[in-house]
Amino acid sequence: MLHDPRPALRSTPIWRPKRVLVTASAQAYPHGRSIAERAEALGLTVERLRSDRLPLERGEDPRKAYARAKSTLAVVVAPPSKLRLQPIAPSADWRVDLAEGCPAHCSYCYLAGSLKGPPITRVYANLSEITGALPSYLGQGVVTSRSAERAAEGTTFEASCYTDPLGIEPVTGSLSALISWFGRWDAPVQLRFTTKFASVDPLLDLDHRGRTRMRASLNPDAFARFEGGTSRVAERLQALRRMAEAGYPIGLTIAPIIAADGWEDAYGGLIADIAAVLGELPASADPTVELITHRYTPGSKAVLESWYPGSDLDMTGAQRREKRTRFGAVKQVYDAPTMAALRRFFETEIAARLPAMRVLYWT
Ligand code: SF4
Repeated sequence: MLHDPRPALRSTPIWRPKRVLVTASAQAYPHGRSIAERAEALGLTVERLRSDRLPLERGEDPRKAYARAKSTLAVVVAPPSKLRLQPIAPSADWRVDLAEGCPAHCSYCYLAGSLKGPPITRVYANLSEITGALPSYLGQGVVTSRSAERAAEGTTFEASCYTDPLGIEPVTGSLSALISWFGRWDAPVQLRFTTKFASVDPLLDLDHRGRTRMRASLNPDAFARFEGGTSRVAERLQALRRMAEAGYPIGLTIAPIIAADGWEDAYGGLIADIAAVLGELPASADPTVELITHRYTPGSKAVLESWYPGSDLDMTGAQRREKRTRFGAVKQVYDAPTMAALRRFFETEIAARLPAMRVLYWT
C-alpha cells in the first residue's frame, strides 16, 4: 500500500496549452508542422504566425503574465547555440534540448534562474538539425570517461535540463521522435531524461533498443505542495515500472532533497514506496539512483518568490552555506551538518531497502 494521504488517485490530465503559436520559420520544418497538427488533433487552436516574432503581451500584471506564459506553447526554431552541446556533469556527458520551459509549477523550479522573460514553453521545430549535431560528440565526454560503470552506458545525452520532455510530449511528440532516433543510432550511446509526469503510453512500443534511460523525479507526497501541476508520485512510480517492463533502463532522480521538518519520515516513506513498486525488475532495467539536494541562487530565489509568493519552501538562508561554482556563480546549498545527515540517511536507506539500485552520484 503506497503512502498517499490524498484522496482519490486520478491521472494527471495531459497538458492542453491555451495558446499554441507556430513561427513562420518553424512552419518550414516537418516536425514544426507535425506539432501544429498534433495540437489541432487535440482540439487546440493553433496560430500560424507570418513572422518569427511572438505576439506576447508586455507590461501586464506579473501574476497574469506568469499564468498566461505557463499556458502558452510556442513552436520555434532552436538557435545555432543549441546545436553546440554543453557538458552537463554529473548527470550526463552532453545536454540535448528539445524545448525550453515547462507547464508545471514547482516552487523550486530549476529553470527559474535561466529562462529569459516570461516562462512560456518553446519547443524546437528543427529536431532534424538537433539530432544531426549529435554524432560529432560520440566518444567525447567527461562523465562516462571517469568510471568504468558509467563508461558502459556509452556517450550520454541528457534531455531534461531545460524542460520536462514527458510533460510536453502529448502536444509535441518530440521525445518519442528522439527515443526512436537513438534506437536507430547503432553506437554506444544513451539518451537520458527525467520527469515528474507519468503519461508513458506513447513510449512503451517504440523501438528504443535499450538506448534511452527514463528516470522518475521523485519527492515524498508530504512535499507534493512544492510540485504543482505534476503527476502524483504513485503514478510516476507505476509509469517507471511500465517502462522497465517495456525493456527500458530506468532510474530514480530523488530531487531536490528538501530538509524540511519531518524529512526523515517523509523520505523513509518514499523509499518504502519505491521498494514496493520497483521490486523484481527485468535485468534490462539496470536501476540507478541520482541524489540531488535543494539549492538556489540569488537570481533564482528572486524569480521563484515572484512566481510563487505563497510557497513555504525555505529559502531564508537557515541551514545554508554559500558554494561558488567554477564559473564564479554563488549557490546556497545546505550547510555541512545538514548535508552530512541527509547523505548518511540516503546511503544507509538505499543500501538497506533498494540494494539492487546503483547510486550514480550525490550532490
Ligand atoms: Fe521546473 Fe521541472 Fe517542475 Fe517543470 S517539472 S516546473 S522544469 S522543476
